[in-house]
Amino acid sequence: VVFNIQYYSIHDGSGIRTLVFLKGCPLRCEWCSNPESQSLKPEVIVLVNRCIGCGNCIKICSEQAIVNTIEGNIINRNKCIACGKCTEVCNAGALQIKGKFYTVDDLLEQVMEDAIFYEYSGGGITLSGGEPFFQADFTYSLLRTCKESRLNTAVETCGFVPYETIERCLPYLDSILYDIKHLDTDIHKQFTGADNLIILENVRKLAKTDVNLIIRVPVIPGINDSNNNLIRTAEFVKELGLKELYLLPYHSLGVRKYSQLGRKYKLNINPPTVERINEIKEILIDSKLNIYIGG
Ligand code: SF4
Ligand code: SF4
Repeated sequence: VVFNIQYYSIHDGSGIRTLVFLKGCPLRCEWCSNPESQSLKPEVIVLVNRCIGCGNCIKICSEQAIVNTIEGNIINRNKCIACGKCTEVCNAGALQIKGKFYTVDDLLEQVMEDAIFYEYSGGGITLSGGEPFFQADFTYSLLRTCKESRLNTAVETCGFVPYETIERCLPYLDSILYDIKHLDTDIHKQFTGADNLIILENVRKLAKTDVNLIIRVPVIPGINDSNNNLIRTAEFVKELGLKELYLLPYHSLGVRKYSQLGRKYKLNINPPTVERINEIKEILIDSKLNIYIGG
């Protein structure tokens, strides 16, 4: 189940890449900018401002899942079976389905349309999400098939998956972009829904393999951006024998998606200032790691 395919990306791996976003994630990070990625199932989003009130969607929904309210149409998520029929009759584009089923071959065919760009730039495919290893068998088959087509492959992961799931993909993986969100187990659990023990254990194991391992830290103001946590994280990365650390500053671009899904965004924070990011970079210079900003 894929919710987005992004072409011509120059982030998230080397060269020009196609990013494939898979649905489903075992974590529930409160700052998640892709909330439509968290559930494995396809979901309908509602863009209230686009609705022209024609009522087509309400008429076609066999589940009576759409209710017209003073605030616009609301989807009863308990009733909706994500059949997508309402999105087909919404000429205003106010209803869209996020999540489409693909076979490995269909997806590869789309990705290979840009093969010439990969060849000249050293790029390839990056699986993102959600958590790509959450759809373990599909990710394994896709990576294996991509390697057979000699594509450069990368996966962005939160690491909260059984190590065996990652391990069996390693022969077909060039790079892993690995998120470390907090070194404190309790705080990690408070803001992501799970502790960090498996995540840290997995990354220790991966650091001993040949895969190109890139550690990334989302910088979330008031949650993980204390000097203490960032210095501890840098020390941890150094102990892994790695030389680089990427900081991904929090942004608020995903906030509006929560109401489109009928959910509430819990955080009330602003992106870190440029001054603060530069300050963090200065503080981490002592770690002797190469510190980069962005993916
Ligand atoms: S996706 Fe199907 S079940 Fe869900 S609201 Fe639309 S028509 Fe109804
Ligand atoms: S079909 Fe689209 S435009 Fe018409 S009422 Fe439903 S959401 Fe609004």
